[in-house]
Amino acid sequence: MITANNHYFELPANYLFQDIAKKIKIYKEKNPNAKLISLGIGDVTQPIPMACVEAMHKACDEMGKLETMRGYGPEQGYEFLRQSIVKNDYLDRNIEVAADEIFVSDGSKCDVGNIQEIFDVSVKVAIPDPVYPVYRDTNIMAGRKISYLPCLKENNFLPSLPDEESDLIYLCSPNNPTGTVMTKDELKIWVDYAREHHSIIIFDSAYKEYIRTPGIPHSIYEISGAKEVAIELRSFSKTAGFTGVRCAYMVIPHELKAKGPNGEMVKLNPLWSRRHSTKFNGVAYIVQRAAEAVFSEEGKKQVKSMTDYYMENAKLIREKLTSVGLTTYGGKDAPYIWLETPRNITSVDLFEKFLNEAEIVCTPGSGFGQYGEGFVRLTSFGTRENTIEALNRIGNLKL
Ligand code: PLP
Repeated sequence: MITANNHYFELPANYLFQDIAKKIKIYKEKNPNAKLISLGIGDVTQPIPMACVEAMHKACDEMGKLETMRGYGPEQGYEFLRQSIVKNDYLDRNIEVAADEIFVSDGSKCDVGNIQEIFDVSVKVAIPDPVYPVYRDTNIMAGRKISYLPCLKENNFLPSLPDEESDLIYLCSPNNPTGTVMTKDELKIWVDYAREHHSIIIFDSAYKEYIRTPGIPHSIYEISGAKEVAIELRSFSKTAGFTGVRCAYMVIPHELKAKGPNGEMVKLNPLWSRRHSTKFNGVAYIVQRAAEAVFSEEGKKQVKSMTDYYMENAKLIREKLTSVGLTTYGGKDAPYIWLETPRNITSVDLFEKFLNEAEIVCTPGSGFGQYGEGFVRLTSFGTRENTIEALNRIGNLKL
């Protein structure tokens, strides 16, 4: 008899997120005129840069003409986009990455899950807690053993090296949900660990465009020796508002190796290339042209102004909450603010207070892992108007 992948039954049932969705629904039914404002959304609200819109229009016109239409493209991404990424995201920051180390995809979420296929199911995984839940759930689905690395106020929300030997380590900086970032020295500790233990780091820098503090690494390859031990994930979603357009990329350096069938070290870049071209048929030409436009002069200016807009929201959130006696973390180099609940109330209690007394939606930290308890995540992805209105309401709350 056929057996299901029973690891799916080991997934933490997302009662918390279901429960908060239910509470919001009930509140809306009871208060049909309520003007709820979400400070919980992880999605963008501003239109994508005009440079990208224009590039898409142009690419659409090309698709409508016999001489310029495109069919299947290269699975790994068009050369024009891979070269633009190499130049703008790496060489301009003095990092050497080759175009054939870049793999364009339809999103980092898929990359997080798919990359695991080139590793044996027995590899031991280390994941920070709280965390972007996709790292955890995709590994549970694959039946891997996970150790969790607590990220607490006491350690500045930075994971400490694992007690148990770990093969595959997920790191995210700027971090979702805590909004904190890793310095070069902090990241170097992990690169050194991975080199010593022959582990591989999956470094997710989906929010790199929000870094404002000079010296904070945008790429793990800013750390010497990282190309031998790290895969980097990048996404256009939060960089350029592409959450609905879908484009990301992953860097698999030629230096990266793992144990092969006869105990010898084998290169992972060709393995991933094989996997990508077997199971994926490339990102739409129109979308790749839009992504390329992110790196045009106009595109860069528009991306900066869009991320500045959100970061100004983040500043308003931090300042207002601090002025009413609350404690916040993050929000300086990331669009997320990690708000400590007052008087040790639970994150769900604070969520309910915000909802029932201020008509504001936030995300309870416990939804991101057990060590997220005692915090809620606020995002700066709202409109300015809504952000200011939400902050005024919080200012009037008795907390
Ligand atoms: N990585 C992190 C840390 C995220 O927060 C998100 C989305 O919220 C993603 C990856 C997914 O990005 P994409 O839209 O490219 O799938």
